[in-house]
Amino acid sequence: MKDLTNMMKPEEVVEILKNTDALLEGHFELRSGLHSDRFFQCANLLSYPIYAQQCCEALVEKMTIAGVLGAVDTVIAPALGGIVVGHEVAREIGVKSIFAEKQDDKLYLRRFKINPGEKIVVAEDVVTRGGRVQETIDIVKNAGGEVVAVALLVNRSGGKVDFGYPTFSLLEMEPITWAPDECPLCKQKLPLVHPGS
Ligand SMILES: [Zn+2]
Repeated sequence: MKDLTNMMKPEEVVEILKNTDALLEGHFELRSGLHSDRFFQCANLLSYPIYAQQCCEALVEKMTIAGVLGAVDTVIAPALGGIVVGHEVAREIGVKSIFAEKQDDKLYLRRFKINPGEKIVVAEDVVTRGGRVQETIDIVKNAGGEVVAVALLVNRSGGKVDFGYPTFSLLEMEPITWAPDECPLCKQKLPLVHPGS
């Protein structure tokens, strides 16, 4: 029997995210235009290979315990954010790692091939509405591949996203957001940060 006590706890994940500046606290304007007191920049965590490895190991452990990894051929991720997660998850499972990449704001499989019946895990760093993961799932299905599971470092959808496949995340954290005119941090006159710009 697998010893469940070895699994990474959510508070440990949060600590790693904070220590690597992947979880920032402050006053942020999100891409949606809403304001929030938190922002995820998972690339900062993934810039430390040791943390990338630890987190993806823990994610694969969850999937192993759930029994979804019986037969997996490949892990696919949407570029850019998902690539490192996909690579580390694939390494841990012991399969190959491929990625879909953006052209004219749409994801394509430009340099890899998916064979009919290929069993595939879709990996991503952060999901809010799940658009890119859904696009990647569609690429797999259109190529005749079979989606086995979805693996996420952070699920910010608050349980609202349902891809129709077993979905695993290392951390679930719903964002707290406000319209600018209702934002308490604006009322406190805290400087607004535009992350990623
Ligand atoms: Zn604000």
